[in-house]
Amino acid sequence: MMFARWVDIIGHKTFAFRRQFSWAFHPAVQSRHNADLRILTGYSVKSPPTTSPLRPSACPGLLRVVQALDGGICRIKLEGGSIRSDQARAVAQAAQLYAGGEIEATNRANLQIRGIGVHQAALIDSLLAADLGPATAAGDDVRNLMLSPSAGIDRHMLVDTRPLAREILTSLQTHARFHELSAKFAVQLDGGEALAMLAHPHDLWLSAADLGGELSLVFGFAGCPTDRPVAAVSLQDGHALVIAVLETFLELARPDQTRMRHVLAERSPEQLLQILAKRVPLRSVDKWRRRVTAPGLHLGTYAQLQKGLVHVGVMPPLGRLNPSMLNGAARLAEQFGDASLRLTPWQSLLLPNVRQADASLVTRQLQDLGYLIDAAEPLTHLVACTGSAGCSKGLADTKGDARLLGALRKNERSQDQVHLTGCARSCACAHTAPVTLLASSNGRYDVYFRDAALPGFGALQARNLTIEAAGALLDARPRSPLDA
Ligand code: SF4
Repeated sequence: MMFARWVDIIGHKTFAFRRQFSWAFHPAVQSRHNADLRILTGYSVKSPPTTSPLRPSACPGLLRVVQALDGGICRIKLEGGSIRSDQARAVAQAAQLYAGGEIEATNRANLQIRGIGVHQAALIDSLLAADLGPATAAGDDVRNLMLSPSAGIDRHMLVDTRPLAREILTSLQTHARFHELSAKFAVQLDGGEALAMLAHPHDLWLSAADLGGELSLVFGFAGCPTDRPVAAVSLQDGHALVIAVLETFLELARPDQTRMRHVLAERSPEQLLQILAKRVPLRSVDKWRRRVTAPGLHLGTYAQLQKGLVHVGVMPPLGRLNPSMLNGAARLAEQFGDASLRLTPWQSLLLPNVRQADASLVTRQLQDLGYLIDAAEPLTHLVACTGSAGCSKGLADTKGDARLLGALRKNERSQDQVHLTGCARSCACAHTAPVTLLASSNGRYDVYFRDAALPGFGALQARNLTIEAAGALLDARPRSPLDA
């Protein structure tokens, strides 16, 4: 079965694939079925990685284990953040057998396994066997499409985005041209759900909208659905629009231009629209603005569109799970839900399709497994990158310091997000948090408050503070005005 998948992957004879995997077409390789697979899965050790020859990536993928201080990292990109319970068990088992048992929920609603040792090949093999791999090897990096974690079940949604998302993901993975995209190039498809990440910028975003009684998709470039859209298309043209935008980007972008914002630095959105209008019928949008919903909906129990069913949201502390936490959530999803889990861009977990009557039992059991269930818990408002414990660029142990800060602030009622980052790359947070602690040395941080008028992390408040001093500064911080 695994070899069949390998053959399937080889079947996509794209230029990029042939270039990246030319070693795999050597007769000696093709004649050894089992060894083939091992070579495929082990190429991160001995063979060229799968990455765009035009815009190479150092980011981890499922087929490309990237080394960090604490071992290899394998990133498992999930379709719409969704994972079957049997797949979750496979991830937990792979982390236990072939790595240090550390699993992370990422801010793009994916999972990654850290601390991978010498058994990379076996780990990747097991994930491929669980059907967690990309449709094509070269498609792994570019399957970056974010949906709401409550897509298809949210009472407030205008559109179930999942069928269109499947079409887009298939195109991203199977059109050879799209494999020239950077691994960071990402699309957001928003169905108008209440539970929606509206702060992470995407190269292209589309949002469901009722325009004069007609369900449409408004869209914009290099931003979020809370921005002003540049135009709209009919629902039926959603896929064609995405294809047209990706093709237009690739036609206009130089190899060093990896993101839409780079192209927009040299061309106006109107110039892009002129090109797009020749390929897809566009309509103008005057007054539409995305409805902004309450924060914190990723935690707790919420009624679904489907009568009598709820989704239950919980959070692993600082986005870290161990195998028993993931196995436990999988078991509960099988027992009380539809045997699936959804990851969220808040680095949290959601169990969909739970009967209302079972919700409190499920929540209690998730808490017993180690998940945070209550927004009153300070750790649910803290986000921290790997930091110096696992990353050579980290100047401080951000995870450890975040736990300390959480304990110091346990009586603090503020629900503003605080982001601890080991360096300015800001891996853990795709948007600017209300408060950022940027490591300056071990255990010390510069403190920034978000300011809509300033770029980057915002307004610098203090330099080189200990965690205790930073906590005191946050406690004294006036509420809100800076949270633009
Ligand atoms: S933000 Fe910096 S220190 Fe933190 S994980 Fe990313 S590169 Fe490493």
